[in-house]
Amino acid sequence: MASLIMGCGVSIKPLEQPPKLVTAPEYIRIKFDRITNQPVLNLISTAEMDDRAERLLEQALLNYKTMGFQHITAPSDRRLVRLKHIFDRVHNYSHLKDSPIKVVLIENPIFQAYTFGGGAVVFYTGLTEELDDDQLAAVIGHEIAHIAANHIAEETSRSLVNTETGYWRPHLTGFYALNAEMEADQIGLVYATLAGYAPDASVTFWAEQSDHQGHDMLNPFADSHPTYQDRAKYLQENADKLSRLPRNISEEKRQELMLCNPIYCKQ
Ligand SMILES: [Zn+2]
Repeated sequence: MASLIMGCGVSIKPLEQPPKLVTAPEYIRIKFDRITNQPVLNLISTAEMDDRAERLLEQALLNYKTMGFQHITAPSDRRLVRLKHIFDRVHNYSHLKDSPIKVVLIENPIFQAYTFGGGAVVFYTGLTEELDDDQLAAVIGHEIAHIAANHIAEETSRSLVNTETGYWRPHLTGFYALNAEMEADQIGLVYATLAGYAPDASVTFWAEQSDHQGHDMLNPFADSHPTYQDRAKYLQENADKLSRLPRNISEEKRQELMLCNPIYCKQ
């Protein structure tokens, strides 16, 4: 297993220019999260987020090309076929099932996947080739969850407010990032489980990381990501809740559970 483990890594670069506020009324209106129905601060429209993410992805692909990391696009490439197959299954049981999401696979030995918050997720072969199908489904669910839960837009919104008060904090860091990681883990677990993948796959994975790494002294993301041990613990608790669901669930029931289940519910 690679020594550098992010599991997801919402990898966000600072923007040269903060995104525009949508409108004045949007600025002061609290929205309600589409997954949890909790009030959230989100000043950025979906269209603007998608546009911004598209530009960042284009830049990232140019950078990969410059650095000699291949963008794998051949439809017959077995690595891409496998990734897309699992991605499509998990995506179909997410809040974004009707929104297209690009799957970008980069030939790179680093263990990482990330999203810019719009309609794309980037995976490195160092991650996809390391994980079995159930574990990869959990990572895919996690990344889709970051987009579905508007984590990047919400953090950017906080940064905008901070800018107004003279404190610019462009990265996903600290307490908010920790909560966002845990939320994405749990939402992603639901997506992957409803798609038919083993709910305890991510538990096993993070427990192994904890054993291998001896943990957080070596975790460069310890300030903004849950510890491996914590991650395994709360994922186990949530996997237990999901494993009590009946095995044979109808398609209609699966879609209902995507909206309301033992981990979160929006009625
Ligand atoms: Zn994440």
